[in-house]
Amino acid sequence: MELIDSHCHMDFPILRAQAPQLLDAAQAVGVGLVVVPGVLQDDWLALQRFCRADKRLVPAFGLHPCFMAQHGDFTQALLQLDALLAQPDTVAVGEIGLDFFMADVDRGAQMTLFQAQLRLAQQHQLPVLLHVRKAHDQVLALLRRLKLPSGGIVHAFSGSAQQAQQYIELGFVLGFGGTVTYARASKVRQLASTLPLAAMVLETDGPDMPLAQYRDQPNCPQRVREVAQVIAQLRGISLEEVAAVTTATARQLLLQRVV
Ligand SMILES: [Zn+2]
Repeated sequence: MELIDSHCHMDFPILRAQAPQLLDAAQAVGVGLVVVPGVLQDDWLALQRFCRADKRLVPAFGLHPCFMAQHGDFTQALLQLDALLAQPDTVAVGEIGLDFFMADVDRGAQMTLFQAQLRLAQQHQLPVLLHVRKAHDQVLALLRRLKLPSGGIVHAFSGSAQQAQQYIELGFVLGFGGTVTYARASKVRQLASTLPLAAMVLETDGPDMPLAQYRDQPNCPQRVREVAQVIAQLRGISLEEVAAVTTATARQLLLQRVV
């Protein structure tokens, strides 16, 4: 059985410090590949080196919408991003998107940065890893206008069933992680049990979003197996089926250039 963690910040210091052990533990339960999204320009080159040092890691590069102040005037960053996306081992543009959760964010600046990164994804024919909070309708409108033939993943999806359907129609799939392990997360659990399995991929978002039974520890890739197990239970199917279908989807979406 093979599982893929489609979104884990293994390069964040708390995970990076024990990366070999964490990746061995993940591999021991079937999680053989981890997608590591970029967040800040300053970290991109270290992220690239880090992933190149271990076959189990593949990088994506992008500027995260929650760190607008650190991105400053991002003209220079976009030029570097363009160059990084041309590297054959880059699997996606991410983590990019819109986060309108806080009331005082500069929505216009987020939109400008997001659109510029979507255009780069289009030019490089790469999928995107999307971070979307309180902005699904805005993101859907942009994706309808820009059209991304390589699609992408809406990471940690928590929108409505209708929004999920609209992403799927645009060629996107939805990422599910530790949230499904919380009994009170009824909306996400409902989605995880009813969406077409072929439109779902698995993730941890480590070190964030810990599973219910590991609330006091940083989240890490081996937990993808437990996410898969919960989804299998919710759907009344086998763990093997969840693994086979979600892994095939993640591979097809992210690894066409690499593997
Ligand atoms: Zn993330």
